[in-house]
Amino acid sequence: MAVSAKRLAANVPGDFFVDSTCIDCGTCRQVAPASFAEGRDASYVWHQPTEASEVHRSQMALVACPVAAIGTETKHTISAARAAFPEPIEDAVHYCGWAAESSYGARSYLIVRPRGNILVDSPRYAAPLVDRIEALGGVRWMFLTHRDDVADHRKFHERFGCERILHRADIVSGTRDVETKLDGADPIALDDEVLFIPVPGHTPGSTCLLYRKRFLCSGDHAWWDPKRERLAASRSVCWYDWHEQTASMERLADHRFEWLLPGHGMRCQLAAERMSEELARCIRRMKER
Ligand code: SF4
Repeated sequence: MAVSAKRLAANVPGDFFVDSTCIDCGTCRQVAPASFAEGRDASYVWHQPTEASEVHRSQMALVACPVAAIGTETKHTISAARAAFPEPIEDAVHYCGWAAESSYGARSYLIVRPRGNILVDSPRYAAPLVDRIEALGGVRWMFLTHRDDVADHRKFHERFGCERILHRADIVSGTRDVETKLDGADPIALDDEVLFIPVPGHTPGSTCLLYRKRFLCSGDHAWWDPKRERLAASRSVCWYDWHEQTASMERLADHRFEWLLPGHGMRCQLAAERMSEELARCIRRMKER
């Protein structure tokens, strides 16, 4: 629960605020950019929501915040915001909100398909979200992009009986019991619309999921940098091998997609041709570092 006494000075005066427990995960900036902005080491409210739609988005940010660092000075009814996740992005792809602190607030996604839903990375195991996921058909597979963003994977497995998928190179003590371990560096098809693409670098077993050649769930391999308006990867958060990550990015350039859906950092949609160009520019910058 956010505490008014810990309200950050950077917040503009008014009802909504971010307190000093913010871990700067960026979730609120993705969910409600009209109200939340990036500060030095934390987010803050730069514009108090006034329109009903802005208030709703800010309430959704409050729900999604992994550490309850967003609060309001007045009492709000947030049932509509709690029911808003998973939020459709486009086609069958949804953003789950309800970020988990143990995944450092990473984004997770639900792909709803008649042949079986896929949960990409783990949101917080929160009852309102779990019930909504159940209403959307549950979870057939839970794909974990890498070892960092696994959060409540076991609880989702126990509730939905889903088959968990993670690259063998990223298996650690907490994930030894995942049902399917991917091997090698070559892409692996789940079926004719889902492809797993190993991208070692950020971690040894980092893997992207490409859905219908349009949506790339990229984990922490790459994300969109809205300030510079370009695709990004960072050596400062490369825990394994930067040269491998650069080589992985070059292999990723063989694939076409329009949506980049990361674990951390902002998502984006670009025309496939523009995405290819941005990828090529990103690779050039990675080679310079
Ligand atoms: S969602 Fe919460 S923890 Fe993440 S940046 Fe916003 S206020 Fe901070």
